[in-house]
Amino acid sequence: MTEVTIFERILTGEIPARKVYEDEHALAFHDIHPQAKVHVLVIPKRKIVDIASAQPGDREALGNVLLAAKKTAEVLGLAEGGYRLVFNVGRHAGQTVFYLHCHILGGEALGAMC
Ligand code: AMP
Repeated sequence: MTEVTIFERILTGEIPARKVYEDEHALAFHDIHPQAKVHVLVIPKRKIVDIASAQPGDREALGNVLLAAKKTAEVLGLAEGGYRLVFNVGRHAGQTVFYLHCHILGGEALGAMC
């Protein structure tokens, strides 16, 4: 049986989240443990586990996540200063939630990527 992740429970409203942006395809909400002044997650409304398991049929859903990230950054006022988008994939990247999500980090000058 596929694990029901915390993000699916946020999507159904079972668990609260501080929503920033929502459209037909994606939801954006503040990360509970921010790693930058602004740290928001964008998830597709249709489940994809991560980039590693994405299929050609997920092309549109993946594009919609990126467009929602762009829109979310605009809503948050990040567009001018810039921001970082991160997808953690698997163990070495420290992925902890196995429901695809794009981290938006910004609101300040970010350090170099490791
Ligand atoms: P990752 O390590 O890429 O899998 O990122 C998962 C992210 O989900 C982490 O940054 C967590 O802080 C965040 N997170 C976990 N539970 C929640 C929650 N209930 N609401 C918001 N963010 C969460």
